Amino acid sequence: MQKPNIPSFIPPRRTLMGPGPSDVPQRILDAMARPTIGHLDPAFVDMMEQMKALLRYAFQTENALTMPVSAPGSAGMEMCVVNLVEPGDKVIVCRNGVFGGRMLENVKRTGGVPVVVDDAWGAPVDTVKVEEAFAANPDARVLAFVHAETSTGARSDAQALAAIAHKYGALAIVDAVTSLAGIPLMVDEWELDAVYSGSQKCLSCTPGLSPVTFSERAIARLKARKTPVQSWFLDLNLVLGYWGSAGRRTYHHTAPVNPLYGLHEALVMLAEEGIENSWARHAHNHEMLRDGFEVLGLKFVVDQHYRLPQLNTVYIPAGVDDAAARTRLLNEFNLEIGAGLGDLAGKVWRFGLMGHASRTENIDYCLSSLKQVL
Ligand SMILES: *Cc1c(COP(=O)(O)O)cnc(C)c1O
Repeated sequence: MQKPNIPSFIPPRRTLMGPGPSDVPQRILDAMARPTIGHLDPAFVDMMEQMKALLRYAFQTENALTMPVSAPGSAGMEMCVVNLVEPGDKVIVCRNGVFGGRMLENVKRTGGVPVVVDDAWGAPVDTVKVEEAFAANPDARVLAFVHAETSTGARSDAQALAAIAHKYGALAIVDAVTSLAGIPLMVDEWELDAVYSGSQKCLSCTPGLSPVTFSERAIARLKARKTPVQSWFLDLNLVLGYWGSAGRRTYHHTAPVNPLYGLHEALVMLAEEGIENSWARHAHNHEMLRDGFEVLGLKFVVDQHYRLPQLNTVYIPAGVDDAAARTRLLNEFNLEIGAGLGDLAGKVWRFGLMGHASRTENIDYCLSSLKQVL
């Protein structure tokens, strides 16, 4: 076989203002370039312990079982479902966008019996409908919903939803992939049971890691399972032997050493900024972008009460070619924005102001580029 004559890959420099990944600060990339060490090296084990403490701060929780899954946000979703749902368990799944639909798919494949609560794309999950679903299905064991629906830009009331679940003795599985560090997410105060996130959205790290956290109630449910967790890789009982206590760490899989350096640095940066300041920065920059959009005549899809500051979805103006405009932004301005998904495909654009991308320079650049393209 002839050897391929292919040079090294040099990516273009983009400004990432889509639904993720978001702009990664050089400081995080530098951290990832540090020397690879063994994943059971005592120095690495120390780093893992710091990582857990940093993640507890990000999630605002004291949960002992808080760690990054060695795979993207979708794996965090699957970990929550496969560990907390047994075949035959009734699960109320809220679907108001793409990611609720994926939770539903996970529940089905795990053998759960889903009860779907549908809401319009762009609307939050309706707590009244969820209450009705529980009243009609008081034996439901889990409620699954997305806190920040990235496909639409809508925020749901995670605290109220979890409270309904607990009233019926059910656990709350919460998708916080886009919410973590971008809007308040109070895992303990809101009594959320199984929460997963992603490294590449408001934490501004590279993609491929999924921070997760589990409450004592979730662990009790796990311990009471009658059937083994169907996934070997995502079985929390096994992962715990690795991420559990530092003294007795045993091999489960080889942790992605350098990506974890990156996540550690991203979390150090979050702690330096202060999480409340991070929320405030996202909120403030959203207002700046919104004001600029108003000047351009762009209309938001989501009502202002439920709008995510980190994910701004607007209708594409009449007469503008969706794909051609986005291609121009990418090729001429090195600016990536998000297309519409599912029901909103071809109708909207999604502008991410996540993590390091949530900066004044980016907003100015985005608005001026957009003005030329429109
Ligand atoms: C991005 C995202 C995911 C999936 O994360 P990946 O890292 O792409 O697997 C899940 N849920 C929501 C709400 C997301 O925005």
